[in-house]
Amino acid sequence: MEWGRRWQLQLSEAHWLGLSWPKEYGGRGLSPIDVAIFNMEYTASGAPQPVNRVGLNLVGPTLIAHGTEEQKRRFLPKILSAEEIWCQLFSEPNAGSDLASLTTSAQPVRGGWVLNGQKVWTSYAQFARWGIGLARTGPELPKHQGISFFVVDMQAEGVGVNPLRQMTGEAEFSEVFLDEVFVPADHLVGDLNHGWEVANTTLAHERGTTFPFKEQILCQLYFGEVLRAAQASGQLLDALVADRLGQVYVELRLLGWTNLRSMSQLARGINPGPESSQVKLIWSNLTQRLSELALDLVPTDRARQRQYLWSKSASIAGGTSEIQREIIAGRILGLPRQ
Ligand SMILES: Cc1cc2nc3c(=O)[nH]c(=O)nc-3n(C[C@H](O)[C@H](O)[C@H](O)COP(=O)(O)OP(=O)(O)OC[C@H]3O[C@@H](n4cnc5c(N)ncnc54)[C@H](O)[C@@H]3O)c2cc1C
Repeated sequence: MEWGRRWQLQLSEAHWLGLSWPKEYGGRGLSPIDVAIFNMEYTASGAPQPVNRVGLNLVGPTLIAHGTEEQKRRFLPKILSAEEIWCQLFSEPNAGSDLASLTTSAQPVRGGWVLNGQKVWTSYAQFARWGIGLARTGPELPKHQGISFFVVDMQAEGVGVNPLRQMTGEAEFSEVFLDEVFVPADHLVGDLNHGWEVANTTLAHERGTTFPFKEQILCQLYFGEVLRAAQASGQLLDALVADRLGQVYVELRLLGWTNLRSMSQLARGINPGPESSQVKLIWSNLTQRLSELALDLVPTDRARQRQYLWSKSASIAGGTSEIQREIIAGRILGLPRQ
């Protein structure tokens, strides 16, 4: 983490982060298409990804769209420099796919709110200085309307972080307990009870703007590595191996073309819509198939073992594959809800 922070600081000092952000907040004001091309080239170079991933990809764009001037000036520069790491306090034990059923409460008190509840699967929580959190402020309202979006101080009294070990052996995420946590009034983002609209900006950026271009390149690089190793070892002469590699190659091309289509939409000023679910679904299948094939070819390789285990999370994180299929069925194909 410390190494990653220093690396990100160097990137930010050279103005290679927040490229689409307005110049007054440390960005370059570049178009989304320029940013997509940069992300692909950056990833292809093999350079490590910036460590403040949630801050850069989710919090920054959300605050730029919905934050007050004071919030933008306070938080954006330290996201870029990685001086303050961020996490996303959305999922709860009984609210993941159906996020709007969340039950963490925010009660009004003098000068702000008091939060009570539990979050889970919170990536980077153990390093985070701040979290973007959803809490229920209007329990009497329909479930999507009674939610507000807050900036939560992860060092505040009453915040408990308990890292969860996943099957790779690492603890990438944590459960977070909020016990009478005070949030000052000026840490509300957007309007009271309108947090769902704000959260939708966050979720659109989670699926749509940075991730698909970067992941396409990472998969291409891994595919090239597996293909070269299979050639060198003679395994490519096995028709079943060649067939599986061929299948992955087809999916890689599909991902590339789907990304090009999103890029041309971005260039015309159209933000990612339901088709980002297609990208997420293609990528999850592709990354799992490729990781499994790579491990089958060299079962003793530690890096391939870890990649195989990690790839299992691809069809869960950022919305499960079942939910992506629901979105594609309903919003792209126009099929009736089940
Ligand atoms: C590596 C990783 C990192 C994560 N990081 C974060 C983070 O930083 N912050 C955060 O807030 N969350 C994070 N998450 C949580 C993630 O967003 C949720 O796990 C995800 O939304 C699914 O929710 P759930 O785990 O509660 O599963 P559930 O919603 O309980 O789903 C269980 C199963 O039921 C299926 N299902 C549910 N509803 C339907 C339906 N309507 N139709 C068909 N099938 C359905 C699902 O597809 C799934 O297979 C992370 C998850 C992972 C794996």
